[in-house]
Amino acid sequence: MEGISILNGKYAVSMDMYPLQDKNYNMVYKFYDNLKEGRFTTTKCTDCGARSFPPRIICPECLSENMEWVDLPSEGTVLVVAEQEAGVPLGFQAPLIHAHVDLGGELTYLGRVQNCKAGELKEGDKVKLVVIPIEPVPADGKKGAVIQHERVFFAFEKVK
Ligand SMILES: [Zn+2]
Repeated sequence: MEGISILNGKYAVSMDMYPLQDKNYNMVYKFYDNLKEGRFTTTKCTDCGARSFPPRIICPECLSENMEWVDLPSEGTVLVVAEQEAGVPLGFQAPLIHAHVDLGGELTYLGRVQNCKAGELKEGDKVKLVVIPIEPVPADGKKGAVIQHERVFFAFEKVK
């Protein structure tokens, strides 16, 4: 991902919009492990069956900690398109294209659509999940050691 590299090794956690994804720092790290395999997943409560997105470590319905990982559809239909001209985050070029996407009737998700020009995406278009490598983040390991955590994130792309 461009943008973070302009910090030239001066890692500023407050400007990094991607979370730490390692199991040492993040209890939903499996979401990112699954993303690395191209799977879009979330958690489902094995006690009451409630499914949440984003993934949770505790069920918001019954407070159970018994959660399992389930797959979400990786293709969807665009419900609404928004083109962001101002306030685009560092490293991204305007306009940013966002879409509210219906994922197979199971979930609606508001997310970024990449490799898409202004005016190109319309209501009813199909989009698919794409997994994007993100620059590794330097993190302190044992004294003096710097660990580079591999990271990924996701966006959608128009199905052509
Ligand atoms: Zn539950």
